[in-house]
Amino acid sequence: MAQEASDMAFSPEPAHAAPIFEGDFTAQEPLPREAAARATALLATGRLHRYTADPARGEISEAARLEAEFAALAGRRHALAVASGGYALATALRAAGAGPGTRVLTGSFTLAPVPGAILAAGATPVLVEIDDNLAIDLEDLAAKARESGATCLLLSHMRGHVPDIDAIVSLCETMGLTLIEDCAHATGALWRGRPAGRHGLFAAHSTQSYKHLNSGEGGLLVADDDDAMARAILLSGSYMFFDRHGAAPPAAHIRRHVAATPNISGRMDELRAAVLRPQLPLLAGRVARWNGLHDIIATALAALPAVALPKPPEGAVRVGSSLQFRLPGWPSAAVAALVERARRRGVVLKWFGAPRPHGYTSRHDMWRHVPRIPLPRTDEILRTLLDMRISLLFTPDDARRIARILVEEIDALDGEIRRRQGHLRRQRLTKG
Ligand SMILES: *Cc1c(COP(=O)(O)O)cnc(C)c1O
Repeated sequence: MAQEASDMAFSPEPAHAAPIFEGDFTAQEPLPREAAARATALLATGRLHRYTADPARGEISEAARLEAEFAALAGRRHALAVASGGYALATALRAAGAGPGTRVLTGSFTLAPVPGAILAAGATPVLVEIDDNLAIDLEDLAAKARESGATCLLLSHMRGHVPDIDAIVSLCETMGLTLIEDCAHATGALWRGRPAGRHGLFAAHSTQSYKHLNSGEGGLLVADDDDAMARAILLSGSYMFFDRHGAAPPAAHIRRHVAATPNISGRMDELRAAVLRPQLPLLAGRVARWNGLHDIIATALAALPAVALPKPPEGAVRVGSSLQFRLPGWPSAAVAALVERARRRGVVLKWFGAPRPHGYTSRHDMWRHVPRIPLPRTDEILRTLLDMRISLLFTPDDARRIARILVEEIDALDGEIRRRQGHLRRQRLTKG
């Protein structure tokens, strides 16, 4: 019986021994000197809690200053500094009224903290199919919204990809869905020339080290709506110090929500706020450098017939802090061989089709805590989806070397796949 090409093993041995890449894909850029200076000054005072700064004595906390500066950067009226991106998401959901019985739609190409935030709020995730460009599929979104009775869409701009936000906003309006944007990977991304994360009731950002602003852990929630932000501030654990915030609704307005809003502590501390503030002016430059490195590699890959790159919609500027590409039609064994061959040449690829979760990469069918639904289209897309982090410490020459290694190994494997498929076809023809 003829063996299918998909069953065949592919050697893990690279097609070429050289060049090898020696850079570190997870390396962070050092923080600016000013961040170190502020952190040191703060440590000397011991006043690391945001509410130790008393406005009655003319003091404004680092956290409050960060909120004012981030709100301006994000183009929104209000900002709230919190403990993590995941906490920001759960807080946004709670402040939007999500709880037990609420169904929350979310795209199925996402990271585990997104369904985690929905569950943390007591709500139920409803996973929606994605399209070839890794964006949420609008047809499936409308269908699932109708079938599930969901009232909320948690839209994750996963890996910095910005979808057609205008189309999504209009669909949310038609279907009565509250939109919350997850900008953990999209801090610095643009939609029609303005910052992404301006359309949802809330947008949540992350300042965890692997995102675009680095305070180890941390999150920032932005919004325009006074009542929604009042609830978020109280939820974050403001006690009665909500007047010590940097970009908040008026205190009298917040006071109205005090009695009805539980405290689920998750404030940001002064140290993190202090190291973040000097990074805000650097964000646009970081995005430009990331996109430059990303485009060197993406342009080289785009020339290969085997490779499919996600296409951003017109009007979107993504952040190329990572790169995704697919190998449509490749057998899974060949994708696994590419991951191994690239690794042996120093290039670290993450594979969304891998049988087990790995590092930061996991897939919806591995989340036993999330209601399972068939997502055949997503599964086929994720089966050959590869993901690569781009470090800001890489030089353009590094990017060219990475591109060359990937091009060589993809080309070699693609040649093997074609030869085997041709061989199988000939075998069938001579038998038939
Ligand atoms: C990192 C990330 C989060 C969670 O952020 P943390 O700060 O790690 O809690 C949420 N969504 C996406 C898409 C992320 O990449």
